[in-house]
Amino acid sequence: MKSSKRLFLILLVGMLWLSGCASKSINQMDTEQNEQENHESIPDTQEKTAAINELPSFLEGQTERTINIYAGVAKFPDLVQLVPCYCGCMETLGHQSNLNCFIQRINQDGTVVWTDHATRCETCLDIAATTIYEMNNGKTIKDVREIINQKYNQ
Ligand SMILES: [Zn+2]
Ligand SMILES: [Zn+2]
Repeated sequence: MKSSKRLFLILLVGMLWLSGCASKSINQMDTEQNEQENHESIPDTQEKTAAINELPSFLEGQTERTINIYAGVAKFPDLVQLVPCYCGCMETLGHQSNLNCFIQRINQDGTVVWTDHATRCETCLDIAATTIYEMNNGKTIKDVREIINQKYNQ
């Protein structure tokens, strides 16, 4: 009871913090309450590794595509951090960008806390894959955000 109250507070702070960039209407907030329950029924697995080029062991047994996208995010975290995620995680899980679907945080000592959220979320995987693919094709980050916005934000 106590911890769920704290979680709610963290989510609330996250939402307030995000409200600047994510201008959602009240109605949208209502429908996302349901998604929140779905997300919470499967708690994320987190794993800490010594450095960003060391992928978490929970990727064992995942598809090659999933592993490749995690590796891509590990190569371009600064890029992926500039792109929002549209799976609902920014509202329900307090993610600050698509990066948080793969990496919870990068510590000052270089250690990385990974999350397996994206292994279960096609939207997160696809957004990161699109970001990396389009940037490799010479698109600017502004173009990439527009492409992803058009594809998912509807
Ligand atoms: Zn997701
Ligand atoms: Zn996400």
